[in-house]
Amino acid sequence: MAVPQSAIGDKPNLLGMTLPEMTVFFAAMGEKPFRAKQVFRWIHHGGVDNFDAMTDLAKSLREKLPQVAVIQAPKLMTEQKSKDGTRKWLLDVGTGNGIEVVFIPEADRGTLCVSSQVGCALDCTFCSTGKQGFNRNLTTAEIIGQLWWANKAMGRDPKGERIVSNVVMMGMGEPLANFDNVTSAMDIMLDDHAYGLSRRRVTLSTSGVVPNLKRLKERCPVALAVSLHAPNDALRDVLVPINQKYPLAELLASIRDYLQAAPRDFVTFEYVMLDGVNDTAQHAHELVKLVEGIECKFNLIPWNPFPDAPYARSSNNAIHRFRDVLQQAGLIVTVRKTRGDDIDAACGQLAGQVVDKSQRTQQTKLSALTIPIAIHSAGATA
Ligand code: SAH
Ligand code: SF4
Repeated sequence: MAVPQSAIGDKPNLLGMTLPEMTVFFAAMGEKPFRAKQVFRWIHHGGVDNFDAMTDLAKSLREKLPQVAVIQAPKLMTEQKSKDGTRKWLLDVGTGNGIEVVFIPEADRGTLCVSSQVGCALDCTFCSTGKQGFNRNLTTAEIIGQLWWANKAMGRDPKGERIVSNVVMMGMGEPLANFDNVTSAMDIMLDDHAYGLSRRRVTLSTSGVVPNLKRLKERCPVALAVSLHAPNDALRDVLVPINQKYPLAELLASIRDYLQAAPRDFVTFEYVMLDGVNDTAQHAHELVKLVEGIECKFNLIPWNPFPDAPYARSSNNAIHRFRDVLQQAGLIVTVRKTRGDDIDAACGQLAGQVVDKSQRTQQTKLSALTIPIAIHSAGATA
């Protein structure tokens, strides 16, 4: 196995290594596998980014490690808390770029919404991340670093369970367009020596990068959400342009195939509700036909506005009418509650800071960040 990426300067970043990768790295130093496991646990169980704190390592190893490796999480820039308990962190990923991470508390779980890229190249017309353009893929360390930070901030409940119990890859970016780093980060999420999440508690959301959905089935099957947003190719070609490359018939076939290996026996279809665009009863009837024979649940997402977007949110009446048509056809439907409204933490509003390198947008856009409630100067060494 190759020694992993996620290096800072010449030194590899241990935060982004899976346990097998760390074992290889330690073996190359002449260290036993259990040493790799100890360090891996310190980082992910203990939230430690300082070799000196790893008290059960031999002093000689503690002194050697900083010479050959680093443990570096993205720097925490701001933290915001919503009235409803939602939290949002802005993490600095260098060269003027920032990514946002959101924690959403619910009665029976705590869900972390994790980003996979700085911006997104897929350019869905209703999405604020897409409109900001694309800068780069996040490294494995930057992806797992979001969970690492959130666990440090949220801690454990009185029973000793982690407050962050679920992860959804629904932040900025298209996770299947950053396949290797996302799957390595998910390996760490699932590892019992790290976060120990079950596959059912990790959900990957994709707009439909079909070849990589096939690879995901083999490499790291987790719960699946697919951003559908339209009941036919003509409309989906416009809203979700990657549909022009991988149209609905191909996407639905690959979902059927994926479900054979998935930890949950259904796919969640996300459907953003755009006033007058995709929200009529006729669209709903067409959708029912489209998904016939696929085990699925629907999540209707009231569209969240952002400046200069050519859309409006569907009325509550339209959303309910749409939901009723699906329900009458026997489908399970939820309407997503908008959380963290007061801190712009809602789905599709994650702006972060994207210095667009894709040349797709003409200007460099820095998001208008809301005023932080706390500024931490703390970085990787905090
Ligand atoms: N790229 C992946 C995951 C990130 S987006 C994907 O597209 O699935 C997570 C979800 O938010 C997707 O369903 C996306 O379509 C939706 N979304 C994007 N912009 C939105 C907005 N302005 N309002 C509501 N939902 C939005
Ligand atoms: Fe990218 Fe998803 Fe936004 Fe589309 S909806 S632009 S795939 S982040």
